[in-house]
Amino acid sequence: MNIKKKCTYFHEILTIPSYIVKNNQPLGLLKHLCSLMVLYIPFSFAASDNIANPVAEFKISLVTYSFKNPQSREILTKKKNHDVDKIFKILSTHYKQKPSDPDYIQSDLEEMAKYYSQFPHVVTLLTKLQSKDWTLNYNQNTWSTIAKGNALNVDSATIQFNSRSAAMLKFNNGCKHNFVCIASPADALLHELLHALSMLVNTEEFIQQGGMNHFRYPYKHEYSVIQAENALYASMSRIDGIKRPQRNEHMGRKIIASCVTCIK
Ligand SMILES: [Zn+2]
Repeated sequence: MNIKKKCTYFHEILTIPSYIVKNNQPLGLLKHLCSLMVLYIPFSFAASDNIANPVAEFKISLVTYSFKNPQSREILTKKKNHDVDKIFKILSTHYKQKPSDPDYIQSDLEEMAKYYSQFPHVVTLLTKLQSKDWTLNYNQNTWSTIAKGNALNVDSATIQFNSRSAAMLKFNNGCKHNFVCIASPADALLHELLHALSMLVNTEEFIQQGGMNHFRYPYKHEYSVIQAENALYASMSRIDGIKRPQRNEHMGRKIIASCVTCIK
């Protein structure tokens, strides 16, 4: 982002009069003041995914590939094993274990790695995040992704997750017996990983969407994450034939799940 863009963005946030940064005019002292202020004011953004209240439900059975050609099956099995190892390494490297965390988290990360490795778009998502600065923290009650940085940069992201908390993503319109409204914990984590991707990989777009504006909730950013989630879930459903939620709203409700890929 160049200096004019930085200051234009900063002006949008703190309502500096627009004539100061218009038409590439020399900004002199104001330009320097602006850039210094922008660079040194710390912000954080919390994409809190409002989810509460336990219920319970079903198990998503993992569907594995079947291939006609034994040779291609062998190659794909090798690739799949490689992806499982890679994803497990990414998840376990970024997971910051606290002494009070449940023991099953490690095995849940293994299950998630096996599950995610079925889906090329999920493998790509995690690969893009592999070397970025983000952490996975267990939180019994909250799903959220918090970006730390300033108005121009995101330094890091922190994801709060619960590997036994599924998410009912609509609850006012007959979702009660419709399991397609529910995302398993593993699928719910993908939503947070999409937030992290936006923050850490597509940072400029995230900031343009109001991502680091801590004066108001960046609905534009949340909406774009929900769009990306719909596309990702649809791509996964094409592979394993399991229906997943397609939504256009942000609210949800927490549901206790008996395993990381379960919706019950
Ligand atoms: Zn969200």
